[in-house]
Amino acid sequence: MNRTVFMDADGTLVESAPAHDPTQLRLIPAARRGLMRLVREGFSIVIVANQSGIAHGKFPESMMPSVQSRLSDLFAPMGAHLAGFYYCPHHPEGSVRQFAIHCECRKPAAGLILRAAEELSVEPAETWMVGDTLDDVEAGNRAGCRTILLDNGNETEWRMDGKRWPGAVVTDLDRAVPLILGTEVAEVRRTS
Ligand SMILES: [Mg+2]
Ligand SMILES: [Zn+2]
Repeated sequence: MNRTVFMDADGTLVESAPAHDPTQLRLIPAARRGLMRLVREGFSIVIVANQSGIAHGKFPESMMPSVQSRLSDLFAPMGAHLAGFYYCPHHPEGSVRQFAIHCECRKPAAGLILRAAEELSVEPAETWMVGDTLDDVEAGNRAGCRTILLDNGNETEWRMDGKRWPGAVVTDLDRAVPLILGTEVAEVRRTS
């Protein structure tokens, strides 16, 4: 069975931190609990993150490997393996010319998730996308994932349309786990 959860990073897994300093990244406590439970159940975690700070010249793309390794270090004590780290460096109004484009990978577009799914050979419909904004939800819906919104105050615009309705809404990652596991259980029962 495919056990992959795509996740946003900022506000979903890690506290919003000064973006230029990966050593400042910290797991949100409820995210740590949720991660531990997912990992125990054999789920792979794949991060899909907008990093428009690169396009805006706030930090260089060359910093991304240290962000990824910091995240891997945060996962390691839980026995969790970061199965993928995908980011979009673009923003249409960026100041760094090479990244100042309309791309297919910046959430709410689905490109980042679709690329990850392709490279990791997972079927989006069997996965989850979890994030703290409706742009995360829309990206997940467009990619064909099941979606969960973490309503923790970071979404403030609530611009809803057909592609932005989450499959479920909870307040933190720990509370998303029963939904993810519940669907798994339901599918096992249905197919056995
Ligand atoms: Mg976020
Ligand atoms: Zn992009």
